[in-house]
Amino acid sequence: MAEIVCVGEALVEIMRTERDRPLDRAAPLSGPYPSGAPAISASCAARLGASVGFVGTVGDDAFGACVRDRLLADGIDCAALASDPERLTAIAFVAYRSDGGRDFVFHLAHSAAAQVHIEQVPSGYLDGVRYLHIMGSSLSASDSLRETCYALAELVHGAGGAISLDPNLRPELMPVDRIRDVCAPIVERARIVMPSGEELLTLTGAATPEEGAQHLLDQGVEIVALKRGELGSTLYTAEGALDIPPYTVEEVDPTGAGDSYDAALLVGLSEGWGLYKAGLFANAVGALATTRLGPMEALYSRDEVLRFMAGQGRPLP
Ligand code: ATP
Ligand code: MG
Repeated sequence: MAEIVCVGEALVEIMRTERDRPLDRAAPLSGPYPSGAPAISASCAARLGASVGFVGTVGDDAFGACVRDRLLADGIDCAALASDPERLTAIAFVAYRSDGGRDFVFHLAHSAAAQVHIEQVPSGYLDGVRYLHIMGSSLSASDSLRETCYALAELVHGAGGAISLDPNLRPELMPVDRIRDVCAPIVERARIVMPSGEELLTLTGAATPEEGAQHLLDQGVEIVALKRGELGSTLYTAEGALDIPPYTVEEVDPTGAGDSYDAALLVGLSEGWGLYKAGLFANAVGALATTRLGPMEALYSRDEVLRFMAGQGRPLP
């Protein structure tokens, strides 16, 4: 039985091997790496020791096998991971700029990942789920995936489970004002929202993070976890703002840091940890996720994370 269920796009990522090589001309690429924000969160949570389920679809092809093998190897319950014989596994091509920005070409809307149906979720799969984790990128990817996210949210929320949302805005997939609209039904039911700084402003239309967080708290969200890259994170609740200090790493590839942070925060909270403890653990996992090239190549076991935290002089309280 899964305590944490992630839903959304599982895909492979194929990335530039050097910075500042735009995707509109020939240059070396590396991959396929298993990826997709919801799949990264799922793998990370499983590696940290949670029981995890994943709802999504891959194609009946080598890239689909790449993703499925990875999720299975991490111990994820893949009973709700469908294989679509008609469509190819989703692909994200990624180019890194030296200013830290990223450019994407997505093969998503017409891929297997865009066809996710509530019928592929076996009966009983959602029993006992504590957290359903949903990403804005999934809500933006296709009508089918969005409707399935909504249906799952309704079921889990109705059964007393919590919904968490990472807005994970991808303007490549949908104009931002429309993303705001498709996120609204999930925000309404969410206990936790985990945006990065820009996303918080875009999602709420606020001028400052404090104002944006307050806007979400006013809508019934209990925890707004603001991800701040190398500055760590800030947790906003009705009690106020709690700054969680960062860990120091040499960043190699930022992809997946936010998704890993999400997973670790949910793992901590599902174990009943306090906000500071769960936030510190999430900062450590997010920092570690940046230390290797590839979206899911720097996910660690709980023991490894605890050793890293202790080694930096800030052990888990
Ligand atoms: P993503 O690109 O995956 O969507 P994001 O913008 O959602 O990322 P980040 O803020 O980049 O999320 O990273 C999540 C968390 O990981 C941060 O809150 C921080 O705790 C940690 N982290 C990320 N990058 C670094 C870094 N360079 N040094 C230390 N900690 C980091
Ligand atoms: Mg993010």
